[in-house]
Amino acid sequence: MTTAELERTARHSAPSKATNIMKALVYHGLNKPGWEEKPRPVLREPGDAIVRITTSTICGTDLHILKGDLPAVTDGRILGHEGIGVIEQIGTAVSEFSVGDRVIISCVTACLKCDFCKKSMYSHCRHGGWILGNIIDGTQAEYVRIPHADGSLYHLPPDSDEDAMVMLSDILPTGFECGVLNGRVKPGDAIAIVGAVPVGLATLLTAQFYSPALIFMIDLDDQRLAVAKSFGATDLINSADGKAAERVMQLTEGAGVDVAIEAVGTPATFAICQSIVAAGGHIANIGVHGKPVELHLEKLWDRNIGLTTRLVDTVTTPMLLKVVHSNKLQPNKLVTHRFAMKDIMKAYDTFGNAAQEGALKVVLKNDQGG
Ligand SMILES: [Zn+2]
Ligand SMILES: [Zn+2]
Repeated sequence: MTTAELERTARHSAPSKATNIMKALVYHGLNKPGWEEKPRPVLREPGDAIVRITTSTICGTDLHILKGDLPAVTDGRILGHEGIGVIEQIGTAVSEFSVGDRVIISCVTACLKCDFCKKSMYSHCRHGGWILGNIIDGTQAEYVRIPHADGSLYHLPPDSDEDAMVMLSDILPTGFECGVLNGRVKPGDAIAIVGAVPVGLATLLTAQFYSPALIFMIDLDDQRLAVAKSFGATDLINSADGKAAERVMQLTEGAGVDVAIEAVGTPATFAICQSIVAAGGHIANIGVHGKPVELHLEKLWDRNIGLTTRLVDTVTTPMLLKVVHSNKLQPNKLVTHRFAMKDIMKAYDTFGNAAQEGALKVVLKNDQGG
């Protein structure tokens, strides 16, 4: 045989590429993701699991990454930190899951052993935290490697709706922990949520565990505000005229709100929160900020307010899972669009033009593989 023939034979007898290759959404710098072939992930550590994705979603945070707000994300990274799937392989140290289990993937990876994990601050786990689709490859792919699987996966209850359950990956615990719990929402409170975006709406849903009396929803888009109304907002304020803060002050007879929750991550939305927080109130930041904001201490220094920031710890996920499974909370109402995973570029276009498309959560279904 000639060398060329030998090479050809070798290529033909090599194991089928299909078993090692998958498709994934890959980051290449500002606004240039691609749906490309990547090697399938393999087990690297004994605590790892390989999950075949069945449902994934796109998050506002992914758009922040594409805008360059999160410079830790480097060229070639597979994006995505929300998803549900089936375990294909587990490492020798995984004790709580088996091959074939259907699982919810948490956006935060937790080793459960380090000092931060031991104080329930999984977001800052020394061996995890928010790493998926950030500093390791994420869930907008056919397969994903999940480190510290025992601390980072949840069993998907049988007979559950994946569209509802996938909201437990990120936005439900984020809205609840960063917005509702950090804002210390109490029965009878007046609260304002700035941003009727999916995480703002998740905050709206979970704030109602505590029966606030007034829930102001502030946004630029009437369509999203109408959704907020159907989810329980008591007053809708379109902020397009720049008078949202004024309006809230009128509606509260000059007092302001007990809790102002920032769910967008811009200087303008953060400024609204500072203008409407009542004396003794709380500003709870959820938004991902890529730029500095002005802190008006000249107005706030004597107002007895609290200001919190937080990356979701996902410590409330087991509780939220029970509430969703009981159907008391129906986050599947956030899903406006469904795409096949292979059409993810179209899904990004839709999600990126959320106002025009009337998009809230965009769900991706991967029915291949298995
Ligand atoms: Zn997310
Ligand atoms: Zn840890």
